[in-house]
Amino acid sequence: MEALVIGGGIIGVATACHLAERDVDVTVIEKSHVGAGSTGRSGGGIRVQFSTSVNVELSLASKQVWDTFEDEFHTDIRRRRIGYLFLARTEETAEQLRRDVGMQNAFGATTELLTPEEAAEYCPKLYTDKFVAASYSASDEFVDPNLALTGYADRARELGVEFLVDEVVDIRVEDGAVVGVETPTRKLDAEYVVNAAGPWAGNVAAMAGVELPITPELHRLAFARPDEPLPEYVPLTIDLDSGAVFRPEEDDVAAIGGHFDDHPPADPDNFPQKIGLEWTMKALEGVADVCGYFGPDSAVTNGLTGLYAMTPDTNPIIEETLPGFVNAVGFSGHGFMHAPATGKLVAELIVDGEASLVDISTLSSDRFETASPSAEQNFI
Ligand SMILES: Cc1cc2nc3c(=O)[nH]c(=O)nc-3n(C[C@H](O)[C@H](O)[C@H](O)COP(=O)(O)OP(=O)(O)OC[C@H]3O[C@@H](n4cnc5c(N)ncnc54)[C@H](O)[C@@H]3O)c2cc1C
Repeated sequence: MEALVIGGGIIGVATACHLAERDVDVTVIEKSHVGAGSTGRSGGGIRVQFSTSVNVELSLASKQVWDTFEDEFHTDIRRRRIGYLFLARTEETAEQLRRDVGMQNAFGATTELLTPEEAAEYCPKLYTDKFVAASYSASDEFVDPNLALTGYADRARELGVEFLVDEVVDIRVEDGAVVGVETPTRKLDAEYVVNAAGPWAGNVAAMAGVELPITPELHRLAFARPDEPLPEYVPLTIDLDSGAVFRPEEDDVAAIGGHFDDHPPADPDNFPQKIGLEWTMKALEGVADVCGYFGPDSAVTNGLTGLYAMTPDTNPIIEETLPGFVNAVGFSGHGFMHAPATGKLVAELIVDGEASLVDISTLSSDRFETASPSAEQNFI
């Protein structure tokens, strides 16, 4: 069986790897270079703290791969197991956290509910009087996304996957089934074509006549030197009510960011490369309102921009949309961590004809027409 995977990001390369493990002949077609899209700009965060059960299940299934990645893929991905700390300012948000932790625990995750004072054991300068509850998962972590992608790509090559630098400009459909793709210079045939084109995925789906609600949105991350360095054990901390996020990096630098209702739609081939003064001020003010590390002498040293491929409910679409056309798209800011499970699920869809690792029936694209989808609340 032959498959063409469009996109050399973590979703495409993990998918290629897991397909090749199941004896499928795979070619990855990447228009630029492996990691050129969102993956190369990702924060590399891996967490189980989600509000929808399907995301928890995708996290737990992916974790089995992340936990053994260094041995299995012979790649040091610089794991930092510092956990994620979620904070609630209001009783309403605290109630959501309680529901989420109960659901996560029911699936076997070890997330704990904490009082603000208990949370301060992980983040000592936390302004405990501003919060009413917190949740913490020690198994949440972050890794270097480029090293992880390289590990997957090396394994894929070992398994015989070919990488082609070319741009898919059309998807060939005959009698309602996808039969291959076209690039400016080639016509390629395959029984399966996988759309793993990240922020470009809506355009790629349209080449097969399929309309998918994917919006590329601009997201930003800044690197700051706080007045007082964060201890390196401080978790990635998110204030769910304000959207502010921070975590310690190396050399006394902290990564800061957040979502402040300001993620403009963006053109994936031409989007702003600078984080901008207004957003930087909001990010600094946001983290300064959470804990005492970010005083008036904090300085932003660097920043990066990138794109989230958003769906209306911030959950991905993983399905065989037309015979022979599989979409693994719309990861809405959590595609890096969910790539291992996604790769295995796509391999199951293609080789077994159905997915079994995780129940992905809620991730089909018709959910946007037929039901009111359950939106992910724990969005970072
Ligand atoms: C600032 C930032 C921080 C993030 N932090 C996290 C995090 O902590 N944890 C997490 O899980 N996720 C995070 N994400 C999200 C994560 O980066 C993405 O969900 C993930 O990388 C998506 O991978 P992908 O393979 O689907 O897409 P991409 O990495 O964008 O890859 C798509 C590839 O397709 C190629 N392509 C597109 N069109 C064509 C075509 N026509 N022909 C050939 N090739 C084509 C592109 O060149 C690109 O290389 C973050 C994202 C950003 C921007």
